[in-house]
Amino acid sequence: MNSQDVFFPIIDGIILDLKGLSSINHSCASNNCKISQCCCSHYEVLISKAELSNIINVIPHASQYSRNLRLDKDFGNVFEDEGRNTYSIDKNDNGFCVFGYKAKGRKVLCSLHQAAVDMKIPINSVKPLACILWPLALVESEPIILSVQEEVSIFPCNQDRTSSTLLLDRGIAQNIEIAFGGAFLNKILKKIEALNGNSRGSR
Ligand code: SF4
Ligand code: SF4
Repeated sequence: MNSQDVFFPIIDGIILDLKGLSSINHSCASNNCKISQCCCSHYEVLISKAELSNIINVIPHASQYSRNLRLDKDFGNVFEDEGRNTYSIDKNDNGFCVFGYKAKGRKVLCSLHQAAVDMKIPINSVKPLACILWPLALVESEPIILSVQEEVSIFPCNQDRTSSTLLLDRGIAQNIEIAFGGAFLNKILKKIEALNGNSRGSR
């Protein structure tokens, strides 16, 4: 195994960019988030067909928070077919994802996330994987690579880490756990511990 492989182990069929994952601290404080510079307005959110079905099932509940999902007594179509079984989520007139809403304290929240909490179902069964992972992202490859999205340090919730030690920030570890489960996260932490000579892999 060459040194490049050591920092790109494959766990459960996903290549982990360990140096990339260790290069950033992340903490969502959405009341500091400006509409023009929020992850929920900055990107086009792409979802799979399976994610589309899951979201459609909870739209009635999510619409209690994101009122713009309602259209008279029905619900509007807020998805665009992008081909190859991929769909994008529409934005509202402010350029914000239609599932976003303003809660108390000017916080910007996700009605899909809130619907999952209310309905006591796993967040990753409703919220798009791309949203759960951000500022991480899956990079198309064979196998797929879990890394950090480019240029995310322009957002106030992300800070570059200067230390070269491998370490998962708590916010990064949490995103990975919600997306792929605790067992997957533990495998990454063990891998990091082994590479660091048994020092802790998260904080
Ligand atoms: S993750 Fe960052 S950009 Fe996204 S809502 Fe939270 S504070 Fe805003
Ligand atoms: S689905 Fe939720 S987290 Fe994703 S962009 Fe829309 S509001 Fe933000």
